[in-house]
Amino acid sequence: MGAVKTVFIVGGGIGGLTVAHALLQIGASTRVIEVGDKRDRIGTQITLLGNTLLALAELGLVDACLEGGLGWDFVSVRDGAGTILSEQSTPRIWDADRPGALGIMRPRLGQILEDFATKGGAKIDSTQPSPELIRTMEG
Ligand SMILES: Cc1cc2nc3c(=O)[nH]c(=O)nc-3n(C[C@H](O)[C@H](O)[C@H](O)COP(=O)(O)OP(=O)(O)OC[C@H]3O[C@@H](n4cnc5c(N)ncnc54)[C@H](O)[C@@H]3O)c2cc1C
Repeated sequence: MGAVKTVFIVGGGIGGLTVAHALLQIGASTRVIEVGDKRDRIGTQITLLGNTLLALAELGLVDACLEGGLGWDFVSVRDGAGTILSEQSTPRIWDADRPGALGIMRPRLGQILEDFATKGGAKIDSTQPSPELIRTMEG
């Protein structure tokens, strides 16, 4: 990747960890600086639609994400008796043979992205940057 050797990424959320993995794939070493504690990752679900699944597929991340969540093609709204009131489908825009959308818990998604980034060699500082790191960034 030319003259770029190390990329510092501020924020180890969905974007930062995915970028870390992507940069590792093109030969840049990455260091992620995350101010929070991963144990604080909010335990709610996130829905990833076709455009996101396509991006994850291109980065080699989609299989692990699908295994960690639940793929689906449509959402039904029902009344108390189970009668369908409305239905909305999610087109399979990224792969005709695989679900159009994915529901996954945020801590699970975060762990998958973190595992890929660290397996590829990313270093994640999950605390305030150390004086040594600040010197490296400034230097
Ligand atoms: C209620 C809600 C529901 C949502 N539902 C969906 C959904 O269903 N589907 C969907 O695709 N999107 C959804 N989104 C949007 C999605 O959550 C965001 O697009 C996504 O999290 C953005 O990723 P990110 O990495 O940019 O930011 P984040 O995931 O927020 O990560 C940012 C990280 O940076 C860290 N940070 C912040 N400041 C610093 C600093 N100064 N130094 C170091 N670290 C720092 C934070 O601790 C955090 O870990 C939803 C958002 C909300 C609020």
